[in-house]
Amino acid sequence: MDDVIIVGAGIGGLTLGLALHAAGIPCRIFESAAEIRAVGVGINLLPHATSELAALGLEPALARVAIETTDATFFNRFGQLIYQEPLGRAAGYDHPQFSIHRGDLQMVLLDAFVSRAGRDRLITGRHCTAVKQDETGVTISFSDGPGGASVGSIRSGVVIACDGINSVIRKQFYPNEGEPRYSGVNMWRGVTRWKPILSGASMVRAGWLSHGKMVIYPIRPAGPDGLQLINWVAEIETPSYRKRDWNRPGAIGDFIGAFADWHFDWLDVPAFIRAADSVLEFPMVDQDPLPRWSFGRVTLLGDAAHPMVPRGSNGAGQAILDARALTSALLESDDPVAALTAYEKQRLDATTRIVLTNRTNPPDAILREVFQRTHDRPFVAIDDVISREELVALSEGYKRIAGYSRDALRTG
Ligand SMILES: Cc1cc2nc3c(=O)[nH]c(=O)nc-3n(C[C@H](O)[C@H](O)[C@H](O)COP(=O)(O)OP(=O)(O)OC[C@H]3O[C@@H](n4cnc5c(N)ncnc54)[C@H](O)[C@@H]3O)c2cc1C
Repeated sequence: MDDVIIVGAGIGGLTLGLALHAAGIPCRIFESAAEIRAVGVGINLLPHATSELAALGLEPALARVAIETTDATFFNRFGQLIYQEPLGRAAGYDHPQFSIHRGDLQMVLLDAFVSRAGRDRLITGRHCTAVKQDETGVTISFSDGPGGASVGSIRSGVVIACDGINSVIRKQFYPNEGEPRYSGVNMWRGVTRWKPILSGASMVRAGWLSHGKMVIYPIRPAGPDGLQLINWVAEIETPSYRKRDWNRPGAIGDFIGAFADWHFDWLDVPAFIRAADSVLEFPMVDQDPLPRWSFGRVTLLGDAAHPMVPRGSNGAGQAILDARALTSALLESDDPVAALTAYEKQRLDATTRIVLTNRTNPPDAILREVFQRTHDRPFVAIDDVISREELVALSEGYKRIAGYSRDALRTG
């Protein structure tokens, strides 16, 4: 078999490379960046994704750099506890939930890929500009970076576009799609070195989007000074946004006003934000689900296929699940066109449901319910506002749609 060509060495591309290599299917990864640097801030991997990474032998390496998250804890903007539930192994799953720096995750995947498949299987400084297919294969053209000089083309029998939310290959198939769809919520993302909050492995969601919502979770174990690297995201409804660039710096003054009086016994939020190492700004965007990802010998994977708003901790995880499904499909069929069709059949509807649910009823729907029922005022007792059963139902409903309810993973 020809090498499978993977375009993009992000979370999806590297996981696919590892899965194909483990299955004995030769592949090469072409990455636009001249050098892979550990960029980004926090990401969560839920048990359906960590079980796939464990199957690739990566759990120990991830556990060394990540936090094994133990609980999801929800507060209103007055710091009152709404709901808490266990996560990952603490909730009885066979695999953990990891909260991890995106760069650390990418480096674990990269090191494993390079040491297992070989350094020559990853080619950097190769920005895919187009794919063209005929009866016998695909020609993939590259430049030396976005907008850079052409560096020629290669041929292959199968190409997988793992080139992220700005996918060139997706644009080629859907030239009229336009820019990603802005959700009306802007995000300021940062990391702060701080003493452990709550359990030291809690994923906190607080407030609501209209006045300001915070998501806070640690992503690296504490150092000798006892401080953890803690990821946070401030999310605020904002009519417009400036630029969609993962590395765009943000200004604390643009959003800290929304959290000025968030002085809680579990965290002084303004002090915590002001102590940030770095702040990035990024609009919350997605795209409408596509009717089709596979075109002959070329298909889409991860954010290139189904970018979703980051409200369910599922972006990286779904890319990882795609990689597993695609590898199985390629193993099961000698015909690449049939394999890519089978992969799409398995994954397109499932991810479409998640993209749409992330817009309407992700886990933070719990915060919306309480915000609406209390008219954004403090409550006396949470049971007067919403029952425990309703809270559990909101949380479990999302898990079922996103494919990580405990029952689904046990029988899956
Ligand atoms: C720089 C960066 C920072 C991020 N930071 C965060 C974060 O802090 N938190 C979070 O939740 N998510 C973040 N994400 C997104 C997150 O990684 C994805 O949502 C998710 O993991 C799905 O992964 P993916 O492989 O589909 O896409 P990505 O992880 O985005 O990977 C896409 C890869 O393709 C490469 N690429 C793009 N175009 C081309 C091309 N034409 N030819 C060749 N290679 C190409 C990119 O350089 C990148 O390495 C970030 C993505 C990037 C690229």
